[in-house]
Amino acid sequence: MSSFNNNFSRRRFIATAGATALGSFLLKACGNPPEDTPKVTSTQAAKINIPADQVPEVTKVKLGYLPIVESAPLIIAKEKGFFAKYGMTDVDISKQANWGAARDNVKIGSSAGGIDGGQWQMPMPYLISEGIITDNLKVPMYVLLQLNTQGNGIAIAGKHKDKGVGLKIDKAKEFFEKAKSDGGKFKAAFTFPKANQDFWIRYWLAASGVDPDADVELLTVPSAQTVANMKTGTMDAFSTGDPWPYRIVQEKIGFISALTAEIWKAHPEEYLAMRADWVDKNPKATKAMLKAIMEAQQWCDNFDNRKELVQIVATKNYYGVAPEILEGPMMGKYDLGDGRKVDDKSMAPLYWKDAKGNVSYPYQSHDLWFLTESVRWGFLPKDSLATAKDWIKKVNREDIWREAAKEAGIAVADIPTSTSRGIEEFFDGTKFDPENPQAYLDGLKIKKA
Ligand code: CA
Repeated sequence: MSSFNNNFSRRRFIATAGATALGSFLLKACGNPPEDTPKVTSTQAAKINIPADQVPEVTKVKLGYLPIVESAPLIIAKEKGFFAKYGMTDVDISKQANWGAARDNVKIGSSAGGIDGGQWQMPMPYLISEGIITDNLKVPMYVLLQLNTQGNGIAIAGKHKDKGVGLKIDKAKEFFEKAKSDGGKFKAAFTFPKANQDFWIRYWLAASGVDPDADVELLTVPSAQTVANMKTGTMDAFSTGDPWPYRIVQEKIGFISALTAEIWKAHPEEYLAMRADWVDKNPKATKAMLKAIMEAQQWCDNFDNRKELVQIVATKNYYGVAPEILEGPMMGKYDLGDGRKVDDKSMAPLYWKDAKGNVSYPYQSHDLWFLTESVRWGFLPKDSLATAKDWIKKVNREDIWREAAKEAGIAVADIPTSTSRGIEEFFDGTKFDPENPQAYLDGLKIKKA
């Protein structure tokens, strides 16, 4: 902008502002925007101009979350007033004791004291839809938005330091054989079986020639218990979202062998998924919620907001952790505890944009990877691949994301043009082509399928 334009708009602004009481508020807000931005209360939201055809059917929804960085957009959408702004004035963000509890709560729905949806690892919404993890009760769900990428890691107990356990495991066979003869198999935990963290551990091990089903013992432990179990020595490793892996380093219990951002840069992580019956009944409220979360994701993605983000999510109401544990990871600053240090914002949890494009958009090609990986490890029958694309079309409602993004006025450049992000590449050079998942499976050395 030229200095003439600058002066002109400033003069005009002062002239207008001086004329009204509202103006003095604007001036104040202009001087100090983050602190002075008012939270939108329900009464104010009613006054905000929501186009008549976008007014949500309900103002209430109950969303489950887990105390890990993945849930930040949900918490921020509530705390910064984005839900209220789009007319969702009574959103209940409900902390879940663990993933099993989240599954059980979505199975019964909010009318029975459960939840309508919320934060999920993949492919949980698929497994719930087909009754695979809900005692054969099929509860159809829709995947609507990706909450984040990265922000997860694999933590290793301190006694295994300096033994070559890193992103790539030197002399892996020898190491795990020795652990076995030293008193039982190496024990690695994830927070829920057959989902993200299970896949990250398995991928990382198998890439170094370790068979996760034969050479180590894998077990399920809720995030919040992982630190205690590492302390008492009942566990050798775990994978979950921050702040838990970094806490291991901070409390000098161990180190981080691999950040998930190193295993697969800009990998798919966790998602917003809802009961399909809730979405079908409340299509406008669904889009209102999506618009609010998209706005929260853009807010979260801004590194200038990360300090405030940490202050909000770390409180007792949400994660209940010391903010210092989250501050580093949120800025892409990790002391991995084994001498390695990372200081790179592109390695932090990202919520809106990453090197490959939009984070929030739920790519169907990523769902296909999760289903393919499920076949790889024998969690789903081999023939699931033949019907996977139809299954994905039923569960993944990227079409609703697109409609919401359009209503929210998201820049066209931020809206992916394809349901596929294309060929994906992992740290060991393996490639996943969504056009040919069988070729990926065929190329893998360690697998059950
Ligand atoms: Ca995770």
